[in-house]
Amino acid sequence: MAMERTIIILKPDAVTRQVCGEIIARFEKRGLKIAGLKMLKLTDETLNIHYAHHVTKPFFPRLSKFMKSAPVIAVVLEGNDSVNQVRKMCGATYPLEAAVGTIRGDYGMSMNNLIHASDSTEAAEAEIKRFFKPEELFNYTAANYEWVYAEEERKA
Ligand code: ATP
Ligand code: MG
Repeated sequence: MAMERTIIILKPDAVTRQVCGEIIARFEKRGLKIAGLKMLKLTDETLNIHYAHHVTKPFFPRLSKFMKSAPVIAVVLEGNDSVNQVRKMCGATYPLEAAVGTIRGDYGMSMNNLIHASDSTEAAEAEIKRFFKPEELFNYTAANYEWVYAEEERKA
């Protein structure tokens, strides 16, 4: 499994409902490491790129309005197979269909689905560049690293 980075965006509903700490804690407890973190207000310019594949969909105006309705918190998470594992922890797009135990399944009741996560390693790379400058990302060793990963799964 490759050690890789992914990005999550805690959406305006997560920020205004004050559950960002709890959500970030789930990833930390799993063993994922925070490599970067910032709060920002999304703009049309960024959203049109970030959701380029949805711009022509009927729900895009609502999605865009929602994503600009309050600040968001972007977090880069690092770990083995992180893109895939973080998506699984988020759950299905529509919270009423998301499994209990996932973030959307535990916190959501509508298409306000709390969190975005990159859906491929290519998307993760592009999205991390979109939201973070190289100097805003950090390399360090987590104190629990040797316990989170079995010996043969450690990188160095
Ligand atoms: P995200 O990209 O936010 O991580 P996702 O990958 O699970 O979510 P996508 O299909 O990429 O889902 O949709 C992006 C976002 O657009 C969804 O998270 C949701 O907020 C919104 N969305 C998707 N489909 C619909 C829909 N049919 N009606 C309303 N909003 C929708
Ligand atoms: Mg998506």
